[in-house]
Amino acid sequence: MSRLLSRTIRPRTIGAAVAVAVAGLASGVGAPAQAASMAATSGATVSFTFDDGRANQLTNAVPALDAAGMKGTFFIISDALTWGSSYLTAAQVKALADDGQEVGNHTKTHADLTTLSASGVRTEFTKSQAKLTAAAGGVAPRTCAYPHGSANSTVESVAAEFFRGCRSTDGGTNKPSTDRYRLRTFYVHTSTSAAQIRAAVDKAAADKVWLILCYHGVGKINSSDDVSADTFAAHVKAVKASGVKVRTASQALG
Ligand SMILES: [Zn+2]
Repeated sequence: MSRLLSRTIRPRTIGAAVAVAVAGLASGVGAPAQAASMAATSGATVSFTFDDGRANQLTNAVPALDAAGMKGTFFIISDALTWGSSYLTAAQVKALADDGQEVGNHTKTHADLTTLSASGVRTEFTKSQAKLTAAAGGVAPRTCAYPHGSANSTVESVAAEFFRGCRSTDGGTNKPSTDRYRLRTFYVHTSTSAAQIRAAVDKAAADKVWLILCYHGVGKINSSDDVSADTFAAHVKAVKASGVKVRTASQALG
């Protein structure tokens, strides 16, 4: 929680970012690349995002999204491609990409990136990008989600070398002034109701902001982060009924 607070008070203006960039040049430190504001979110947008590359996301979430004419963003751990039947294989990631879903990056090992050096973070992204690009049939992931939602300015700067934007697990919605390397989310739990999703979407519509929903497993409930297939279908229905536009994360980032 203290991290959330410190994030809130970080300077976000272009002027401050330029000052940081100049200071970074002077000290030889890489300049943060998050100075640019988001080009997207003119009007309300909803994104469905899925973490960890669970196999049941393909079997349960994708059909529900497709039936509603929606596409989601799936943040895959590249090492998990060989973790066994609970996780998406490379062939299943290809199926996701072929279906028009966005394949995003969730690092190689799911490490807490704040415990790594800049070069360690770079290695996580370089190796996972290679694997995921190959799995997706040549399309390089354009967005990432930080494992455990954990990032700092070093992580964000390295992420900016690879991606258009990255999602944290900090709560909230996103507007043009939001740091695109610290995107906020509505973290979905087993108990999250369709009515709660609809209320969040309606609020996003009223505020003209970008709401990013964060899911984990869709089907069998193994943790409080997982939702049943029926619950997920009800969430999709609630979003559809709102009439608010659904876009993938990279589409929303423009
Ligand atoms: Zn994760």
